[in-house]
Amino acid sequence: MSKIDEKLEAVLDQVLRRNAGELEFHQAVTEVLESLGRVVAKNPSYLENALIERICEPERQIIFRVPWVDDKGQVHINRGFRVQFNSALGPYKGGLRFHPSVNLGIIKFLGFEQIFKNALTGLPIGGGKGGSDFDPRGRSDGEIMRFCQSYMTELHRHLGEYTDVPAGDIGVGGREIGYLFGQYKRLTNRYEAGVLTGKGLVYGGSRARTEATGYGAVYFVERMLGTKQFSFEDKRVVVSGSGNVAIYTAEKVREFGGKVVACSDSSGYVVDESGIELDLLKEVKEVRRERISEYARRRSGAQFIDKGSIWDVPCDVAMPSATQNELTGRDANTLIANGVAAVGEGANMPCTPEAVRFFREAGVLFAPGKAANAGGVATSALEMQQNASRDSWTFDQTEQRLADIMRRIHDTCASTAEEYGAPGDYVLGANIAGFVRVAEAMRALGVI
Ligand code: NDP
Repeated sequence: MSKIDEKLEAVLDQVLRRNAGELEFHQAVTEVLESLGRVVAKNPSYLENALIERICEPERQIIFRVPWVDDKGQVHINRGFRVQFNSALGPYKGGLRFHPSVNLGIIKFLGFEQIFKNALTGLPIGGGKGGSDFDPRGRSDGEIMRFCQSYMTELHRHLGEYTDVPAGDIGVGGREIGYLFGQYKRLTNRYEAGVLTGKGLVYGGSRARTEATGYGAVYFVERMLGTKQFSFEDKRVVVSGSGNVAIYTAEKVREFGGKVVACSDSSGYVVDESGIELDLLKEVKEVRRERISEYARRRSGAQFIDKGSIWDVPCDVAMPSATQNELTGRDANTLIANGVAAVGEGANMPCTPEAVRFFREAGVLFAPGKAANAGGVATSALEMQQNASRDSWTFDQTEQRLADIMRRIHDTCASTAEEYGAPGDYVLGANIAGFVRVAEAMRALGVI
């Protein structure tokens, strides 16, 4: 793994010092700075005007109280966040995460990654991220609605179709976006469809947005496999998680002829050697919002395992699609020993730095999240385009655009890695290509 170039060491030191204790943010910045040594060696002008220091500092960080009342009349207080990280390329764009683990450092890591991801799409969107430490699990529809309304009551003053456009992430899907949009509309008295993406089809959503992140990740990995004359056809695939990204990853893998043999949630994982039955998985997770063990209970031959790691299940392709740092160095070694050919990150930063190093050293094809999962935000940008032109595209038309974007992102990462002397290194290619686009825009805009 590359080391930090000495010219960038001071930048990293300052980030670590000023953002003490924000470990995920440190991890994300370290990985990008490790990639930039080759860029500043070739083009030292990027070191001028504290450009890289500015990229590492959010333009604005908003933290607020979110009071809400549960079904029993009890008052709860959560903490809301929105980090508006970089708007050089367009309005801040990035999802909202509702999960008890959320803190400022996690939102900053996600927002930082989002800058480069959004740049890679080639679309006019800046980077941001937000969320709350609210735990939606086990909450009624009414409680979710009241929480979303309270959250938006503060957040709305910071949003706008030309300012900041949130979307979903962990714990925030179509239901939550609906409640958030309703409250935004009520507070502003404006039907500003382009202020949120991931909306329902009846009120300005885009076809294929629900499927976009998972489908996009599979398009990316299929193209990456193609560089070695492989494909998903007849491959065993393990997909962690069973949320939005995981379900639609599994769906597209099946369309491409692969077999998903395991998926998970935070309670454990299921193994289904005859291939995960998607209608049942959707029924359990999307409709009934049950635990993954329910899948195994209702499917003969499937097994629920609540110990160990999903990565113990042998596979040709691994698609971690749950959460950050879920795939460790130990897991990477197990996958390598079991002959994994490719890893595609559907989630954001799901592989630890050690795991990534092991994959790269073992010559495993590795697609980093900021490139592989960019299909979600890319389709969000297509949703914004449709909202701006009061248009609505067909599913096929939208999916075609998504597929083209993912192939282009793949090719950009691959050609950039080659240009910088590291063919096949998609981490380096994604970081450099994303950085250069943002840096050029920032340079043009002056010191702001
Ligand atoms: P969902 O909330 O729909 O699903 C998340 C899944 O991951 C659930 O199965 C959940 O299990 C599991 N999970 C979450 N946290 C943990 C944890 N700490 N340990 C183990 N399992 C966990 O989220 P998404 O599918 O939308 O997001 C998944 C990942 O993809 C995230 O990293 C997100 O940032 C990333 N992503 C999402 C995009 C999107 O468009 N939705 C776009 C780009 C990236 P349980 O229900 O038990 O908590």
